[in-house]
Amino acid sequence: MREAGRVVASALLQMRKHAAVGVSLRELDEIARGVLAEHGATSPFLHYQPSFAHSPFPAVICASVNDAALHGIPDRYRLADGDLLSIDFGATLNGWTGDAAISLTVGTPRPDDLRLIDAAERALAAGIATAVPGRRLGDISAAIAAVARKAGYGLHTDFGGHGVGRTMHESPSVPNDGKAGRGMKLETGLVIAIEPWFMAGGNDSYRVDPDGWTLRSGDGSRAAHVEHTVAITADGPRILTAP
Ligand code: MG
Repeated sequence: MREAGRVVASALLQMRKHAAVGVSLRELDEIARGVLAEHGATSPFLHYQPSFAHSPFPAVICASVNDAALHGIPDRYRLADGDLLSIDFGATLNGWTGDAAISLTVGTPRPDDLRLIDAAERALAAGIATAVPGRRLGDISAAIAAVARKAGYGLHTDFGGHGVGRTMHESPSVPNDGKAGRGMKLETGLVIAIEPWFMAGGNDSYRVDPDGWTLRSGDGSRAAHVEHTVAITADGPRILTAP
């Protein structure tokens, strides 16, 4: 799974470097397709159609700009100065899958966006630190939610983390809010994606575009989303999608 995770990390790094004013979301998707081809990996995103979607996903990345938090379809939109971009990407290599996401700013960043991304990254780190044998799923959820609450950001338990393995979305689900000390006990060998997404306006509502995919904050405020695939080991959490 680490090998699949390396492909994910490499593609996200290349897209982060390439994301600049005037670059289209489709160009970023092309970069990711190139990395998949270079490694002989396939996309768990392309043509994915979960129960909530009325059409298969048409790309290998999710590119979500500004008030879009998740599942944005990379189209001809060209990044503008001050945009906040979240990129979610997965790869399947030799039958195993990795899944990760980054959020970044384009051109001159808004200070509020940097604070929002920083909080999402701190929540991810807090969730990962909790992913150790003997703790419970609810400990991870509570650690993520505590960061959002302290910062005053909105969060929703829909579309949180999940088990990862042969396929991208497996049990258990790892919601972005929950009660510490509750839920499944974490055991060595479990691999999960941890993926906080926060909305700057502080409300927990969201809406989905007519495309059936793009998920936006309900109040139009900006959103950030970060993710890693993490293995629970006797030596502590191992981030399989780290560069
Ligand atoms: Mg995921």
